[in-house]
Amino acid sequence: MSLIEDLVLSYRILASHGVVDAYGHISVRSDRDPNRYFISRSLAPELVTEDDIMEFDLDSNPIDQRGRSMYLERYIHGEIYKVRLDVHSVVHNHSPSVIPFGVTTVPLRPLFNTAAFVGEGIPTYEIRDFQESGDVIIKTPHLGASLAKIVAGHPAALMRGHGSVVVGGSIPAAVIRSIYLELSAKLQAQAMLIAGPGGAITYYDDAEVAATTARQESARTWERTWELWRSKAKAELAAEARLGRGERSENQSRILQLWQRAAAACGCGRRH
Ligand SMILES: [Zn+2]
Repeated sequence: MSLIEDLVLSYRILASHGVVDAYGHISVRSDRDPNRYFISRSLAPELVTEDDIMEFDLDSNPIDQRGRSMYLERYIHGEIYKVRLDVHSVVHNHSPSVIPFGVTTVPLRPLFNTAAFVGEGIPTYEIRDFQESGDVIIKTPHLGASLAKIVAGHPAALMRGHGSVVVGGSIPAAVIRSIYLELSAKLQAQAMLIAGPGGAITYYDDAEVAATTARQESARTWERTWELWRSKAKAELAAEARLGRGERSENQSRILQLWQRAAAACGCGRRH
């Protein structure tokens, strides 16, 4: 098990939970040099392999670019690592259920155990406070630093009209928080719909947040979750590697036969 392998697997895990699609990324602070971090080259998360991982300094300059394209928003990662020494992994995503809470004045609140960390506060980053109106992408060190300032000591921050950034002391922590932040937003929206305007919803109080997060931390409850998701992602990668060596699966052969039959019936010569 290596840091880079876990980073590659984490791209798969986030994609399989709908937290990232063709966009979004995760990084990890280097275990050899705390002033560097690893992140994929600019690529859709489900396509990331170990060969795609690049190393950056905390100003988000590549150590060994070799012509590879880079994520425009890599400054999110470098600038957070500069000011949060406890953070070893950063996720930036546009997960759908979270976005409505970034564009309204309704705060995200803690309502179930695996997302109790929401009770530690999830501020919203308003990019208009840091630049003239325009693109919402974090494409400069200045914008990355301003986002890091809003994240401050929190586990995550919403980015108005864009998505969110989630941090953790490890890859599993950042991945698990990202997935449960998305679920928490979805469940809160459902609870608000059921309760109706002005209806009562019982959220966790501060004592429940503190007790739940402390127990999860001390009992390392996240290890079970990480083990499950990691083994699934690893099996998926291994299956892809086998197919890559020319072992076509039964399903793929069947699909190919169907295409060939459809093309023969139509006669246009295109793949159907
Ligand atoms: Zn983005």
